[in-house]
Amino acid sequence: MFIFVIKKQNNSLNLEWKIHKLLMSIQEQILSYREMCDAEKKQTLQRGMNYRLNPSYSVILMSQRSNAPYKDRIYEDGITIEYEGHDVSRKSYTHDPKKEDQPKYLPSGKLTQNGYFVRSIETYKKNLSKPEIVKVYEKIMDGVWSLKGFFDLIDYKYINDDGRNVFRFILRLSSEQIINNLSKTDVQFVHNRLIPSEVKKEVWKRDGGKCVLCGETKNLHFDHDLPFSKGGTSLTAKNVRLLCMKHNLAKSDKIE
Ligand SMILES: [Zn+2]
Repeated sequence: MFIFVIKKQNNSLNLEWKIHKLLMSIQEQILSYREMCDAEKKQTLQRGMNYRLNPSYSVILMSQRSNAPYKDRIYEDGITIEYEGHDVSRKSYTHDPKKEDQPKYLPSGKLTQNGYFVRSIETYKKNLSKPEIVKVYEKIMDGVWSLKGFFDLIDYKYINDDGRNVFRFILRLSSEQIINNLSKTDVQFVHNRLIPSEVKKEVWKRDGGKCVLCGETKNLHFDHDLPFSKGGTSLTAKNVRLLCMKHNLAKSDKIE
């Protein structure tokens, strides 16, 4: 019995670690240019920004190489990408797109790729849609690409850079991506552990913002009435309650 308990704890520690690692690192798969095009069912992929290349997601090609034409970068958190928008197209040999503001509209009045991305972010920020899912590939060297995974397009800036205005799009590793990287049992575990925010709100109101056992109002935790190992679920307010730290710890001692 004792050994069983230790093993179970180790498993959940492993999972915590796995989730942590997934959160902290972008998973990469190396592909040739051909494999990348095949994966997207396209003959060629030339543009960096491809709004809704696929009915359910967009695709961007990024590069952090020093000679790259755009200033793309990954933040130190390892899960956030800043992706520069696109320049106007070159009109002649002497025309320098790097001296012009990056446009939201084409001369025809239609949206540019920048414009499509901005529109989708604004819809998302007004809570009218989920964030656009963007599949991100990075150029490592000629003909060698890495698939960085699926990201949520969450924000943008339009900033002055060297005398002109450019778009900087902010993408964060999609939570769906994190779920997909876990095994089926892990996913059940994660689903059970994450208490939906509506449930939390309901529990908080019902329990009056205090420990249901002693009335303490500080250091509160959402506690599952049934341990997960016994099939407890967090999906309804019925088996979630508020406990102070002391009672939460006392309870977990009893279970183990
Ligand atoms: Zn208490």
